[in-house]
Amino acid sequence: MIVARTIPELRERRVDLPSPVGFVPTMGFLHEGHIALVHQAVEECAATVVSLFVNPTQFAPNEDLSNYPRNEARDLALLEAAGADLVFIPNAEEMYADNHETWVVVDRLTRRLEGTVRPTHFQGVATVVSQLFHIAEPQQAYFGQKDAQQVLVIERMVRDLHFPVALRVGATVREPDGLAMSSRNTYLSPEERQAAPVLRRSLDLAERLWLEGERDAERIRKEMTELVEQEPLARLDYLSIADAGTLEEIHVIDRKALVSLAVRIGKTRLIDNAVLPPGEPLLARRPA
Ligand code: AMP
Repeated sequence: MIVARTIPELRERRVDLPSPVGFVPTMGFLHEGHIALVHQAVEECAATVVSLFVNPTQFAPNEDLSNYPRNEARDLALLEAAGADLVFIPNAEEMYADNHETWVVVDRLTRRLEGTVRPTHFQGVATVVSQLFHIAEPQQAYFGQKDAQQVLVIERMVRDLHFPVALRVGATVREPDGLAMSSRNTYLSPEERQAAPVLRRSLDLAERLWLEGERDAERIRKEMTELVEQEPLARLDYLSIADAGTLEEIHVIDRKALVSLAVRIGKTRLIDNAVLPPGEPLLARRPA
């Protein structure tokens, strides 16, 4: 496994990789959710590139950029064991040099859900992912359904800007009690950690109601909200049942829907989601 720390170094090593190249962008502090994406890439591609980059532009000034957990040595050991071929660890000064002025803005999709609370987040995500796609030139890129809106935003960007990259979405990997794995879970105190599975429990409730035939989105939102509010440590940021393509809120669940929520537990903000009908893939399959 080769580690490249600059853009020229990465490009030099990239030339030697066989196609198709799979790419897994991450912010490091890897867990089984990340590693599952790497395994998928290794299985489906001739070579796998992984990036570790805590992208400053997707954090607002009041967010956790400086505290974001890091452990490069551990990440590299995990990636080596998972079969990655090339790891890109750039620094922020090279990625955003010369008073960087160019941004990728995906319009409507980014104003909903996470965008209501984090208005500049997706501009940072779309910009860094487009930079990374240009640098690593993958044929396939792997993202987790855990960040469902991110998947939809990147899909829109890839289509609108004609990136020759096929997107693959990995299922959300969870702890045994249902909590979606996240690097941010390390912020939780033991008591907060006990409260955190309330996100998954509320999504389970939505799935159960849907399977029982409930199609009134407002009724499901209400029951989920009540369940979250029963957890004294949890504060709901938003709870949404939206069209899974446009992220517009819906009244009647008569099409593929994304149920998603953001919850603050203490100072930690957690997100999770589920697709209805349960088991339906987030992205429609496109002909290759
Ligand atoms: P991050 O390091 O948080 O930027 O995440 C890097 C990639 O891993 C993104 O595509 C995430 O959606 C994905 N990811 C994060 N957590 C999980 C999880 N629990 N299960 C599956 N994928 C995940």
